Amino acid sequence: MTQRLSIVIPIFNEEPIIEELDRRLRAFLTTLESLQLTWEVIFVNDGSRDASLAKLRVVAAKEHRYKVVSFSRNFGHQIAITAGVDRAEGDAVVVMDADLQDPPEVVAEMVRRWREGYDVVYGVRSQRRGETIFKKLTAAIFYRFLRSMTGVEIPVDVGDFRLMSRPAVLALRALRERHRFVRGMVAWIGFRQTGVTYERAPRAAGETKYPLRKMVRFALDGITSFSTLPLRIATWLGVLSGFAAVGVGIWAVYIKFFVSGVVPGWTTIMILIAFSSSVQLMVMGILGEYVGRAYEELKQRPLYLVSEQINLPDPLDERNHQRPAGGTIG
Ligand code: UDP
Ligand code: MG
Repeated sequence: MTQRLSIVIPIFNEEPIIEELDRRLRAFLTTLESLQLTWEVIFVNDGSRDASLAKLRVVAAKEHRYKVVSFSRNFGHQIAITAGVDRAEGDAVVVMDADLQDPPEVVAEMVRRWREGYDVVYGVRSQRRGETIFKKLTAAIFYRFLRSMTGVEIPVDVGDFRLMSRPAVLALRALRERHRFVRGMVAWIGFRQTGVTYERAPRAAGETKYPLRKMVRFALDGITSFSTLPLRIATWLGVLSGFAAVGVGIWAVYIKFFVSGVVPGWTTIMILIAFSSSVQLMVMGILGEYVGRAYEELKQRPLYLVSEQINLPDPLDERNHQRPAGGTIG
C-alpha cells in the first residue's frame, strides 16, 4: 500500500537557498518511491521581503507536487509551520527548515520509525555545527529550565524538525492558540513519541532568521504557553513577606519598649509598611491565580485527545476535533 508524505517548509527571506533546496529535495524525494511513498511539499512563504516568492513560483511551475502558501506579511516561523500542517494531506507530515540544517536524508529514518508505530518522530540534534556558542548555550539552559518549570515533557535539544502521523496532526490542528510554541504543543498532545539523532549542519546560505529579539519572544512564548508559574511568584513572595512582617512587628515593638530614644510613630509606621506590603503581594498573587486560569480557558485547548477507540466511531475523524459551534453540542 502506498502512503503519502507531506513535507512542510517555512520560508522567510530564503532567496539564496531556494534553488539548492529544490535540488536537494528532488534528489531525496525520488528515493521515497522505493519506500512506497508518494509525496507533496508545502512551502509556506512567511511574508518574505526578498525574491523568495518569485523563486518559489519558478520551482513550483515545474513540479506540481510543490505547493506554495504565501502569507500577506511575516507572521512568524511557528504560525508558518501551523499553516503548512493545516494544509498537509499526507498520512505523515514532516516539518523542516528551509536552510538545509535539517538534512532531508534523515526523513527516511523518521519514516521507518513511524512505520514501526510511532506517531511523532522528532529530530534530536547531536551536534550543531556553525552555530554560535551563545545560541548553543542559551538553548541548552532554556530547554532544561522549561522542562523543569512546565511539567510538560518537552524533549531536550529538539527543534521543529519532526515527523507526525495523521492522528498526531489532527490533534495538533485542534490547538488553535495564538502564541504558538509548536515543539511544546507537540509534546503536550501525547501519543507514541520517539526521537532520531542527527547532526545539525550549518546553514546552507544566508543568515539566521532568529535574531536575539525573536529568540527572546520565542522563549517567552514557550514559558507562558505552558506555565502560569510566573504569575504565582507574587503569592509566594506575599507569604514570605508575611512571615517577615510578623518578625519586623515583634522587633519594632521590642525596640519601642526596651530601647530608649525611639522617634514617636516609628513603630506604627514600621508595622504598617511591613504588613500592608505583604497583603498587597498576596492579593496580587490571588489575582494572578485567576488571570492564569482565565488564560488557560482562553486558549480553548481540547480537554483531551483520543488516540484509539474500540467499537466506537473513528476518533480520528476530523469532526471529533471540532469544537461545538454556537453553544450547541454537535
Ligand atoms: N522562518 C520563518 N519566519 C520567520 C523566521 C524564520 O518562516 O519569521 C523560517 C526560516 O525561513 C527557516 C526556519 O523558519 O526555514 C528556521 O529559521 P532559521 O533557520 O533562521 O532559524 P535557526 O535555525 O537559526 O534557529
Ligand atoms: Mg536554521
